[in-house]
Order: sequence, then structure tokens, then C-alpha cells
Amino acid sequence: MLYCVPMAAIPKDAGAVILLTDPDDPKVFWVKRNPKLQFMGGYHAFPGGQLDKSDSEISVEGCEGEQAWMRACAVRELFEETGVLLARGADRLSSSELSSLRSSTEDASQFNAALVEHDLVIDASFLEAAGRWVTPPFAPRRFDTWFFLSWLPNGQDARVVKGELAEGEWIRPAEAYDRWKRGEIIMAPPTLHIIKTLALHSNNIDGLAKALSAVPEAGRGLVIRIELRPGIFMFPLKTPTLPPATHTNCYIVGGEEIIVIDPASPYEEEQKRLDGFLEDLAEEGRRVREIFLTHHHYDHVAGANYLRDRLGVGVAAHRLTAERLSGSVQIDRVVDDDELIEIKGDPGWRLRVLHTPGHTRGHICFYEEITGAILTGDLVVGVGTVVIDPPEGDMLQYFDSLRRLLALPKLSSLFPAHGPAIGFAEPKINEYIVHRTMRENKILDAVRSGCATTSEIVAAAYTDVAPAMHGLAERSTMAHLDKLLAEGRVSRNGSRFGAT
Ligand SMILES: [Zn+2]
Repeated sequence: MLYCVPMAAIPKDAGAVILLTDPDDPKVFWVKRNPKLQFMGGYHAFPGGQLDKSDSEISVEGCEGEQAWMRACAVRELFEETGVLLARGADRLSSSELSSLRSSTEDASQFNAALVEHDLVIDASFLEAAGRWVTPPFAPRRFDTWFFLSWLPNGQDARVVKGELAEGEWIRPAEAYDRWKRGEIIMAPPTLHIIKTLALHSNNIDGLAKALSAVPEAGRGLVIRIELRPGIFMFPLKTPTLPPATHTNCYIVGGEEIIVIDPASPYEEEQKRLDGFLEDLAEEGRRVREIFLTHHHYDHVAGANYLRDRLGVGVAAHRLTAERLSGSVQIDRVVDDDELIEIKGDPGWRLRVLHTPGHTRGHICFYEEITGAILTGDLVVGVGTVVIDPPEGDMLQYFDSLRRLLALPKLSSLFPAHGPAIGFAEPKINEYIVHRTMRENKILDAVRSGCATTSEIVAAAYTDVAPAMHGLAERSTMAHLDKLLAEGRVSRNGSRFGAT
């Protein structure tokens, strides 16, 4: 099979505001993105958004060029999302005037005219530069985000309008950081860095902007450390995987002892990058104890032999995965459903192995019992769709595996093998079940209306999918038909299917 490696997305300019209030006991305003959003749904972040072409028309006192229009972008986005207007002259407006101005400038192109009309001036000194972060290349959407530090103007308050944002609140940075440590929230690396830095510098607010900019990543450096929970790192590796995915996420979990899940890449360069990251972790006193594989697919296991030999540690997988890999990848230990992988430390990790067949027979997920996060492998992914290709793939088992996740006692986030982490587990798993059920119903309708061969059924049930994809759709249709046969909802006579 030939794979093409798609180019990484070009980062788009964006502006965000780290809004503070109360210098004696600083609190920061953060927002939670709507869990239903495809991009960073359920993540905590700072108010902000993408540059609009009209932002370059806004004049900003005290600077020009991109310094000016990125500030204009940040001010406009902050106003749209929170109702806080960082402009000179805003104190002349009553709160009801401000809110009607807010609704009349929902369309970005109206913002400049509104500023001029009300004699409002954006002043660069209201917005102190606090770093510029570029989303790493693995992400399907990338931003080059300019962060600015600002103080809430007197007489104003922040209020989010529900929609793209689920909520917004003032919080002491130390409390925000604790909530992350407890596994209650998920944030991207820049947000985590900013919260952590604010928590450490709350008593030295004059040096804040400098402290925020003091890491290479805040100067557009490559973001390498993606810590989703304390001691749960995601390390995306370039692999020959199925587009639109371009990478497989390797996960590293633990404290002094760490485990590595899916050292996925066959490419020497990528294996060396993973070596480098593990060496960085070793310098923090972390040593690899064991390597785990979620399933046997090449884009998950291709770096396993190399890492095993280099580190001299064992590789563990489910028995059915070990059987499939026999002769190609050395498996030292078999893990079974319900096995607990306990890693001591701060805060400690309890990874429960869940045998979750459907994508492959030997597929396993790791359920982190303390925080309710699931390392989902290819059961649920953050980009693209999961292929269920019989006989290895089994739709009936796939549905059962998804339902099994829903029944877990505590669910927070999903850490998939492809694409970004998913902030809210339950809506995502439900979305998968709804989507597959919708497809199953279309297939059932097609059979009931007289389509008998798989190609007739695909043509009738996949009208929303480009014909070029119908080859893959046919495999998936076979998986659905096998499930419907097993459930007695369709019948089969040779290569022809019929209603029951
Ligand atoms: Zn797979």
C-alpha cells in the first residue's frame, strides 16, 4: 500500500489575552471551550482567536505593523468573548452601552467603525507581550498565537456568552494549577505554562511578562513537552498511518518509573527524537520500566524492537496482539483484560488494561483510574475515523467496547493514538455511537429497500461520502452487515443480503 505524507498545516496568526485582576491577590480569567467543538473541545484556555483581515485597519497607539494588528485582534477577540473592552475611553460607556456595542460588533469587520464612532483608542501599553507560541506540526489546526498580559479596567467585568465557550471564570492561578494536577481540566502546553508561571509568580507581578516569555517555546520554539496530566506525556511521532492522520501519539506515563505506550515510528529520525525526549525525562530522574503496545498495526509498533533493544526493557501486549506480531516484534509479556499497571509517585498512576476489541481483536486501552482519563489507542481517535475492517475488525465488538468505556465509573478525557487529546470523554464516545448507529440504520434501510449486494448497499448508504472513498466504505459496510447478521436483523444468501 502506498502512503502519501500530507504537509503540516500552516499556522494561522491568533491573539489571546491573559486578563488579570486584583494586583494584591491576582486572579486570571480563563474560559472553558465548548466540549462539542471539534478543535480543543472542553479545553481550558485564555480568551482569544484568529486574526481577521479587518484588524490591520485598526490603529493602535504606541505601535504599528504586526505588533499593532495582533493587539487589535486580541482586544477584539477579548471583547467578543468576555465583554471586556481594553480601550481608552471605554470608561465613559455604561455597562449597557458596552454590551450593546458588544452585540453590534459580533461581526469582526464592524469593530473598527465602532471604535472610531465612540472615540475609543487601543493603547499598546494596555497589552504587554507575553510570548508567542506555535502549535506543533502534528495538529490538524495550527496557530501562531500572540499572548498579551492585561489588567481588567476599572468598572468592567468579564462575562462569556455561551456558545463556542462553555464557561468563563476568575480563578487564582495556584487553584487553576491544582485543578490541572488533580486531572480535572485539560489545557494545551501554552495555557499550562502560563498558569504554572502565574501560580509561581503571583507575588511578583512586575516580572510576570518576562517570566512568561522565558522559555524557548514562548519565542516560537518547537513545543516538545506536552504534559496532559502530571506525568502523562503525549509525544506525537511521524508514522505511515492513514490520512488525514500523519502522526501516531506515543504516550509516556509515570514518575521515577515510566512506561512507554506505542513507540510507533519506523523512521530513524523520529526514533531519535523519542530517544531525545526520553533522555530529557531521564535527566529529571525518570526511567523506563516497560513498553506497551495497544494493538498490532504497523503505525503503532514500528519502533518497538528498536526501543526495546536500546533500553533493554520488555515489551507487553495482549495475547492476540502478540500472536499477530509473532516473528516481527518481540513481545516479552502478555497482558490481559483488567490487569492493573500501578506506578508509584506523585500523584501516582493506576492504569487499568481494558481489552477493547473491534478495531483489532487484541486491542487494549489504558484507563487511568485516579483521573478518569483513557488512553484509547485506535478505539476513539482525535483526527480521522477508526477503520473497522473484517475479519480482524468486528463492529459488534467495536460497539461493545465503546459502551464499555461509557460504563466506567469516572470519565474525564480521552488521549487517542491519533490527533489531539479530547477534553470531554462522554460526548465524544456518544458521538461515535450515534454516528455508527446512523450508518447502520442507513445500511439496514438500504437492505430493506431491496439493495442486495454490498456495492448496491454502499451506493445507497454512503451518499454523503465521495465515491473515491467507497472502497473503504465497503469494508466498513461488511463490518456492519456482519453485526446485523449476528443480531438476526438481516439475512444472507451467498453474496446477497435481504431483510428479515
Ligand atoms: Zn490501528
